[in-house]
Amino acid sequence: PERRFGGSPGDAAHHAAGPMDPAKIRTRFPPEPNGYLHIGHAKSICLNFGLARDYGGACHLRFDDTNPEKEEQEFVDAIKDMVQWLGWRWEHAGHTNLYQASDYFGFMYRAAEALIEDGLAYVDEQSAEAMRLNRGDFTTPGTNSPFRDRSAAENLARFREMRDGKHPDGAMVLRAKIDMASPNINLRDPALYRIKHAEHHATGNTWCIYPMYTFAHPIEDALERITHSICTLEFEDQRPFYDWLLGHLARLGLLAQPLPHQYEFGRLNLSYVVTSKRKLKQLVDEGHVKGWDDPRMPTLVGLRRRGYTPESIRAMVEGTGVTKTNSWLDYSVLEGCLRADLEGRAPRAMAVLDPLKLELTNFAEVFGSADFRDPCHAPAHPHHPELGERQFSFGRELWIEREDFAEVPPKGYHRLYPGNKVRLKAGHVIECTGCTKNDAGEIVSVQATVVPDTKSGTPGADAIKVKGVITWVAAHEAVPAELRLFDRLFTEAQPDGGGKDFLEALNPNSLRVVQGFVEPALASAAAGSHWQFERHGYFVADRIDHQAGRAVFNRTTTLKDTWAP
Ligand code: ATP
Ligand code: MG
Ligand code: MG
Repeated sequence: PERRFGGSPGDAAHHAAGPMDPAKIRTRFPPEPNGYLHIGHAKSICLNFGLARDYGGACHLRFDDTNPEKEEQEFVDAIKDMVQWLGWRWEHAGHTNLYQASDYFGFMYRAAEALIEDGLAYVDEQSAEAMRLNRGDFTTPGTNSPFRDRSAAENLARFREMRDGKHPDGAMVLRAKIDMASPNINLRDPALYRIKHAEHHATGNTWCIYPMYTFAHPIEDALERITHSICTLEFEDQRPFYDWLLGHLARLGLLAQPLPHQYEFGRLNLSYVVTSKRKLKQLVDEGHVKGWDDPRMPTLVGLRRRGYTPESIRAMVEGTGVTKTNSWLDYSVLEGCLRADLEGRAPRAMAVLDPLKLELTNFAEVFGSADFRDPCHAPAHPHHPELGERQFSFGRELWIEREDFAEVPPKGYHRLYPGNKVRLKAGHVIECTGCTKNDAGEIVSVQATVVPDTKSGTPGADAIKVKGVITWVAAHEAVPAELRLFDRLFTEAQPDGGGKDFLEALNPNSLRVVQGFVEPALASAAAGSHWQFERHGYFVADRIDHQAGRAVFNRTTTLKDTWAP
């Protein structure tokens, strides 16, 4: 099979110690390109690339593409994109450490033949059902296959027939010959190769047999001279096979010392979402969400579209540490990391999510004309004057939040109600005089008067003390915007816990789209730019749908923690 990536360590490179960069330690992130990366993968990425960075090492990005039917180039590209987005690079000391398991299919095949010749592997023609039954379980030892004692020559001939396409899928498998009575079920003659007449996204139709993950993975690590092969806890029982296989291949002269070692760590799970590629795929395929990058998805493409920054994701996974137990992290921790990241750097802006018209009935009197535009400004960030000022203007008609007016104020309400004065943020003080209703009795507009000489930042502006400050956008320049507001995707913290059908816990109200208004400067907001809309939270200009003439913002998170149970 052809090599698609330069500098990959094939068999020859391995024997010749290969043209590799100098590294004190070598780790790898080995995704299977069968879906998009999720927040759990971010943990593994940051752990592996972080260790390499901290200890003078290199981290390889390796596509574990041994399962042809589920893998696609689309996923390969998306994974590369996301590792880079998180801030990591697989180039090290002038070498491109980008690999794919399928580059080693030739070596793996020869390794399998060497095991057969050494009496350590055999072709088993039992049915899948018989194989399962004969494996035994935790209390019962397994039973030897009737094909277990065939000669090496016979096994070799059979295995070559498998390779040459002489047998259909499932007719036989190559198995390691270890111990059917081992207390570790993973050592009861695990399968090494299976027949699969399937086209592979990288090797095409070159092969109709494919190595099993448990056989392929240790070899990939050894050929790339990985020192620390870090995987999740469920692989702990695989470690004896990992060592068995590499030990024998080294003894047979196919691999050189030092051999890699496997280490396990706990998975990271996030509450109120699922982090299994299979379940995420189901959400996409069945249309419960709008795609892998739906902002409600815990995929990295989804989190990015939602407005999470690489910094916030790295801070979150680094904050969880590396443990020997699987951890459940509350979604609010991720939100907290985003707030901590954006608080100091996201520019501020005003947005009205639930618009109600406000009319200033004495406007023409105070400013000389109903069409007057009174220029206003506010800092882009309250603590960073160097970020400059936003310009907007004040006019006779404004948009305010519907919740900022009450005909009959509840106790402690300091916003607009007849007879009360409030300050328009970065603008004037106004006094509410009443409201207008339609035939159905719904409030359609609020009336108020401007109090002269109260504009923020002008001498004497503070002469009148008010208890309430409200946000607003002038109707003459407000930019209509689609605002996408999200809630949890699931109503239960562990939607797939306890064998439940996770779809039953889907939140039917996880997306609310509202038409609002934003400040004029936001008409030119770059897609993907982050903003703090005062009092409403952190928003991002949608990286796909936000365009000139169509403003679309996603709320990443509210300003305060509203998720806490
Ligand atoms: P999934 O169960 O979502 O399909 P996976 O482990 O099968 O995930 P891979 O593509 O094989 O998916 O994962 C690549 C690497 O990411 C593996 O080393 C795996 O251990 C690690 N990983 C996957 N999920 C998590 C998680 N939730 N927490 C930490 N590491 C993870
Ligand atoms: Mg996997
Ligand atoms: Mg999996």
